[in-house]
Amino acid sequence: MRCDRVISVATPAKVFRVAVPAPLRQCFDYSVPPQIPQPAPGVRVRVPFGRRELVGVLIEVFDETPIARARLKPVLEILDREPVLPAALLGLLRWAAEYYHHPLGEVLKAALPATLRRGREPHVMREFFWQATATGRNAAAQAFNSAPLQKKIISALVEAPAGLTANQLADIAPSWRATVRRLVMKGWVILEERDPIETPLGPVAPVPQLTPGQHTALRAIARALGSYRAFLLHGVTSSGKTEVYLKIIEQVLDRREQALILVPEIGLTPQLITRMRGRFGVPIAVLHSSLSDQERLHAWALAREGKAPIVLGTRSAVFAPLKTPGVIIVDEEHDPSYKQQDGFRYHARDVAVMRAHREGIPIVLGSATPSLDSLKNVAEGNYFQVELPHRTGNARLPEVRLLDLRRLPLNDGLAPPLLEQIQHRLERGEQSLLFLNRRGYAPVYMCHDCGWLVPCRRCDAKLTFHRRSQRLRCHHCGADSALPTCCPQCGEGSLHPLGEGTERVEDALKRWFPEARVLRIDRDSTRRKGALEEKLRRVDAGEADILVGTQMLSKGHDFPAVTLVGVLNADQRLYSIDFRASEQLVQQIFQVSGRAGRGAKPGEVWIQTHHPDHPVFAALRSQDYEAFAQYTLAERKAARYPPYTYLALLRAESPKPEAALQFMQVAHEAAHSCPLNETVEVMEAVPSPMERRAGRFRAQLLVQSRQRPPLHRFLSCWLNLLDAAPAGKRVRWSLDVDPTDLY
Ligand code: ADP
Ligand code: ZN
Ligand code: ZN
Repeated sequence: MRCDRVISVATPAKVFRVAVPAPLRQCFDYSVPPQIPQPAPGVRVRVPFGRRELVGVLIEVFDETPIARARLKPVLEILDREPVLPAALLGLLRWAAEYYHHPLGEVLKAALPATLRRGREPHVMREFFWQATATGRNAAAQAFNSAPLQKKIISALVEAPAGLTANQLADIAPSWRATVRRLVMKGWVILEERDPIETPLGPVAPVPQLTPGQHTALRAIARALGSYRAFLLHGVTSSGKTEVYLKIIEQVLDRREQALILVPEIGLTPQLITRMRGRFGVPIAVLHSSLSDQERLHAWALAREGKAPIVLGTRSAVFAPLKTPGVIIVDEEHDPSYKQQDGFRYHARDVAVMRAHREGIPIVLGSATPSLDSLKNVAEGNYFQVELPHRTGNARLPEVRLLDLRRLPLNDGLAPPLLEQIQHRLERGEQSLLFLNRRGYAPVYMCHDCGWLVPCRRCDAKLTFHRRSQRLRCHHCGADSALPTCCPQCGEGSLHPLGEGTERVEDALKRWFPEARVLRIDRDSTRRKGALEEKLRRVDAGEADILVGTQMLSKGHDFPAVTLVGVLNADQRLYSIDFRASEQLVQQIFQVSGRAGRGAKPGEVWIQTHHPDHPVFAALRSQDYEAFAQYTLAERKAARYPPYTYLALLRAESPKPEAALQFMQVAHEAAHSCPLNETVEVMEAVPSPMERRAGRFRAQLLVQSRQRPPLHRFLSCWLNLLDAAPAGKRVRWSLDVDPTDLY
């Protein structure tokens, strides 16, 4: 160390500023001896942290000062020669940490696969595979009967020109190894090594001639390639948006650039992936939450090394590293699943727009029901709108009818006219789809004698009855309990389910139409890996007559053979306290009805309601989303709600009843020591609408501002005070910037 100091007179030692994976808002500085070659920001370094060693990411390098030298701990190891995070992506992550006021180390976690955070190599792993040689091919062509296993394996290898991996061979013959070894010794088979790239190119689908509308959209977007521009591709369902995406991707691939495509839910996108495979003979890196660590690292590395020209994924794929970014596409941009609701609470669509801006590439936000935020951005000239107002081919938009429930009897939530409609569909061999936003059998379990409703012990909520499993479950905390045999309140009454969920509707349909094949699609019925894909396959293959499901049915997947859509419990969200509830309801109804009736036969949508005069339905009946959006935007503007104001929500929770609210009061007072002016408004501290959840008492405080910059200045100051407040140590608290869920 002495020598180092002498050298440092000429070349000063360096300080590395490192983001470590810890819930702390600041980065940490470490010293580096001067003779160490200087890596670029974005490489991983191993550093001491407290008593532990952590893998952090280098953010900045600067010259060491004498004071720093005495106090800083040394970096233990530099793990990469090249940054694992490209500079533009690192910049985006730093921006996101600032914008969402979230610790950078935690933000980086969202971008780095777990294996890399543990210090593993960031590369695509090599894969071994066996291939038949020319000699092997000749030999296989001749009949030989003496060694059936050899024959089986060499034939399989001849059939697979790209070779077979160990797993694939094991599927053919569990005891393949000895046999393959013999084949290798004969010179019939050789062992090769390659990047494991999934076999590209599926069945080639015919490429349609673009409609004039698609042409205009394509031209506008294509012209922007190579620079930033945000497009809102607003096209009714089945108007050919996906076809426009594919054409843009084609141009991006021609430019030897990569396309990043975000989708709400991967299980519901097999059609899109199949279409891309059929169109482009290139590897596609698919990123989503149910990958193993190994699979994730692999897809991530394919994207980073540019080996996958197409990168497709859910929310967190917005942080996928790209070697040569060319375009970002956000499909179903209105979908609420783009918002992360815990930890690092970012909005993937918003981050994607910022990413496109920083990378200097165009972004396409596509939807049949654009978010009000995006429509406002169009109105203000930030986004450029391209419209596809018509369905392709002869497909017409479905006809929407309101089924007035007043004075109609309901059978397990189904009105007789709707049952009649289903009957017609069954007779004609067509599919029906029933949509309701509640899984389980019944949302409430009640005592018939005294009216007692079984509550969750840990939440201010009732338990949902699940009939298949004969359990009562809490949809807020996951609590799961057996059915009580009699009422603990009065000790006498027996308990009964009240209200309808998907299970109950499924049962009722099976009773009404015993010959029909009823298929339920919700989170419960698709939990097992591959279950959703299997169900969707059955629907596509016509192996189902009636589908019952939740909002899963409104995302991405098309059901062309469905000619009847029934919406069962719309009313529930018409009069919700959540000002966004009607927006989401309308989007879901438009989406779910648009997924149906794409074939030659027109579709019909029947909405059951007690409030047929509600203005929301007028827009639905005329299939005029634009009218609904304009009306709702005007309402929001008058009420000074988002997107006309910007919100931040401070949340706190604690097992102690008063602690969260006390902290909120401290926070409320602290707010007045920060730059509040007429634009930033701090609301009262209040208990959350569902105060107790999972055994914790919750409170919240809303901050509202007409402009973003003053809000962020305020938040920076405020968080500094909150980080230091002793009351904050007694609760779990977090800040949600641009919250979508206030309840
Ligand atoms: P969206 O993404 O808006 O729902 P798609 O791109 O999936 O629409 O198109 C809907 C259907 O119309 C698909 O079956 C697609 O193959 C077909 N299609 C799209 N564009 C055209 C076109 N220009 N000519 C004929 N068929 C088309
Ligand atoms: Zn009772
Ligand atoms: Zn609960």
